[in-house]
Amino acid sequence: MSFQSLGLSDALLKAISKKGYESPSPIQEKAIPSILEGRDVLASAQTGTGKTAGFTLPLLHYLSENPKAKFRPIRALILTPTRELAAQVYQSVQDYGEFLNIRSAVIFGGVNQKPQVAKLRKGVDVLIATPGRLLDLQNQNLLSIKRVEVFILDEADRMLDMGFLRDMERIMALMPEKRQNLMFSATFSKDIRKLANGILNHPVKVEATPENSTVDAISQKVYRVAKSKKTGLIIKLISEGSWQQALVFTRTKHGANRLTKKLISAKISAAAIHGNKSQGARTKALTGFKAGKVRVLVATDIAARGLDIPLLPHVVNFELPNISEDYVHRIGRTGRAGADGQAISLVSADETSYLKNIEKLIGQSIEVEVVEGFEPDPNASTEPLKQGQNRSRSNSRSKNSKSKTQRGRRRNKSQRYRGNSGNKS
Ligand code: AMP
Repeated sequence: MSFQSLGLSDALLKAISKKGYESPSPIQEKAIPSILEGRDVLASAQTGTGKTAGFTLPLLHYLSENPKAKFRPIRALILTPTRELAAQVYQSVQDYGEFLNIRSAVIFGGVNQKPQVAKLRKGVDVLIATPGRLLDLQNQNLLSIKRVEVFILDEADRMLDMGFLRDMERIMALMPEKRQNLMFSATFSKDIRKLANGILNHPVKVEATPENSTVDAISQKVYRVAKSKKTGLIIKLISEGSWQQALVFTRTKHGANRLTKKLISAKISAAAIHGNKSQGARTKALTGFKAGKVRVLVATDIAARGLDIPLLPHVVNFELPNISEDYVHRIGRTGRAGADGQAISLVSADETSYLKNIEKLIGQSIEVEVVEGFEPDPNASTEPLKQGQNRSRSNSRSKNSKSKTQRGRRRNKSQRYRGNSGNKS
């Protein structure tokens, strides 16, 4: 299938060809025709599937083919859970809309609102926003979404994880009832389906998994190691393996900072990305990493989710996630687009039960290695760390709804991945 046959305008085709895309990705092929028909869509798609173009292209097509005269109300709202994702989606809207007369703006917290407000005042067709800043500016009467024709909810599952349910409900109440709704989510828990029922009207359901990011396509290895020797081991692996770049996951923001400092002391350029970093610092870290100036990006799950970091040769779990599905998300960031990927986990005694759960989820046992000089501590307890120490969800609004959501998510996803494992090529 070609982009031409999807019926997109010449201006969009020109932008697509400028990006170098040859044909639509599976999610684009499935979602674009329904969106162009004006249907509501519920799409199961993660980052890496081309989902952003999947909704941006038909949105821009609709807006440019049906222009509104004179003043410019906000006609489309794209809601994302994180600032980084908002910035990435905005960039896509800019890129694909290069040859169209469509104005867009992005608003998110953590930065001065003035430039955002100045842009809104000039009139925008497409607004990309995180929930907090959107409600903030709305409460100050600095924007109105009462003329929105198309509402897009990106990474709906992460929205719930981050406790944005109430904010989303508030936002929905501010838009006209009659509108087109598109919802994207990587997972489909009971909570997500409930949310979808409340938002979508007879949706078309489409599904796509990222190419080559299935567990089978990735080489996985576990290094059993004493907790106190993890830093030494990762430095050795990076240096002796001459790794060009790696994405390293830690469980906590504090842990990310600590490891980053130690890597820098070992003369390995590194930057941390997590919820406590200022927007400027996060953007700088990500840009540096993408440009190849930063060798190691140390991230927490929440900060890394939704980031478009293509072709990563190495993903390291400095600590295993205590939610097994996060392991699948983490390692899905390597081995993309046909490149060889390696996912490495440094596992200490107290993470033994996490490892077991992960292996159960992915339906395979992971090869184990012990490096001389970095052996596990035979006297260490295999008791897992207490729950509170494991996980820190930043930007959390409602702790109760969050924990409920996580439980629902866990159940649902383990079924999903197990169900898939037999079909994988
Ligand atoms: P996304 O899943 O939206 O984050 O997109 C992942 C990456 O795929 C981005 O870098 C896009 O620029 C790229 N991409 C999107 N659509 C296509 C396509 N049809 N062909 C090649 N690359 C694409």
